[in-house]
Amino acid sequence: MKRPFVTKEQLEALTQQFPTPLHLYDENGIRQTARKLKAAFAWNPGFREYFAVKATPNPAILKILREEGCGTDCSSLTELMLADKCGFSGQEIMFSSNDTPAEDFRLAHKLGAIINLDDFTHIDFLKETIGTIPETISCRFNPGGVFTLGASAEGFQVMDTPGDSKYGFTREQLFEGFKKLKAMGAKRFGIHAFLASNTLSNEYYPTLAGILFRLAVELEQETGCDICFINLSGGVGIPYKPDQPANDIAAIGEGVRRQFEEILVPAGMGDVALCTELGRFLLGPNGCLVTKVLHFKHTYKEYVGVDACAANLMRPAMYGAYHHITVAGKEDAPCDHKYDVTGGLCENNDKFAVDRMLPEVELGDLLVIHDTGAHGFSMGYNYNGKLRSAEVLLQSDGTARLIRRAETPEDYFATLTFEE
Ligand SMILES: *Cc1c(COP(=O)(O)O)cnc(C)c1O
Repeated sequence: MKRPFVTKEQLEALTQQFPTPLHLYDENGIRQTARKLKAAFAWNPGFREYFAVKATPNPAILKILREEGCGTDCSSLTELMLADKCGFSGQEIMFSSNDTPAEDFRLAHKLGAIINLDDFTHIDFLKETIGTIPETISCRFNPGGVFTLGASAEGFQVMDTPGDSKYGFTREQLFEGFKKLKAMGAKRFGIHAFLASNTLSNEYYPTLAGILFRLAVELEQETGCDICFINLSGGVGIPYKPDQPANDIAAIGEGVRRQFEEILVPAGMGDVALCTELGRFLLGPNGCLVTKVLHFKHTYKEYVGVDACAANLMRPAMYGAYHHITVAGKEDAPCDHKYDVTGGLCENNDKFAVDRMLPEVELGDLLVIHDTGAHGFSMGYNYNGKLRSAEVLLQSDGTARLIRRAETPEDYFATLTFEE
């Protein structure tokens, strides 16, 4: 059963201070998750998590993660600027971007970030843009075809189609690319791949690691390039539904270690550092969207209208994603009412839940929409003139701190020009 990380009493106090809707984050939970991840890979001396900034681009969150030893994974100019402003520098920044504009490469280079190239043609583009090839460089691999794990121990089938994905070098391009980069002055090489998203299986990372470790051995043998790091990227998922089992990060780390011992160590590559770029796994469950019930509507269905909308959380509207909902204070009440929970956008897909069984909802109730800590606020937008909400951090000492104010109409009008 899923329970919110805040009580109704805490939420009532909090919403006196900060009006709903708001995105709330749990500092304790974030720190604990970061520590578990670090412990799971402690066997690898060079290990580092580069938090995927796009999941939760907030300075207070980045500062917490920095204190826990994480770097940042950036994919755009402003994400690089944000990482820089938050004190990340040099190789604490991974720049994993695609279809990259020149100015983004320029800033990444200026900050000394590790540049992870998405395409063969970006080798020449990077050289032309920054005038050199950095000594440390990484390339993103796409094996094509279909990636499957089969049914995992938990009974979930993981399948993704790298062959349809826009990212990365083909295998041939990777071998050619490494030779080319070496000839252009690169000295330390990395490989990166992201083959499946939101996986619920302890086998995803070990399987990916097996693929990348074998590739690394072949690449080093064939090209003579010194492969220093291997980046398992994101993709370790979270159980959005209450009946789904959570990933066991310690088991995942152990599974990767076995591949490492089996493949890299015998090849004399036991000094390779591992990286991860998790976003969802670190932050997802440690954030929720808090929203108040504004209206009921009884037509062909029973609707609960809330003060948040898809502009605050796009995943249900965009992917039909499930987000669990708890009515604050009714955690243990029977779920004997069926509702559609909707926002106010003029789009019929603006529904946080369809035919959801909940306890009886009353006007003014606070709803906690779970697992919005990653790809929640950050995917927000201003459609229908809706304003982005505040972000609030529930700190380890139990107090709440505003870490981003809500937008005001002035923000909405700030970029407009009016003709006389
Ligand atoms: C989105 C992204 C991640 C994070 O993915 P999660 O599913 O949040 O773990 C990591 N690396 C890259 C390059 C990404 O685009």
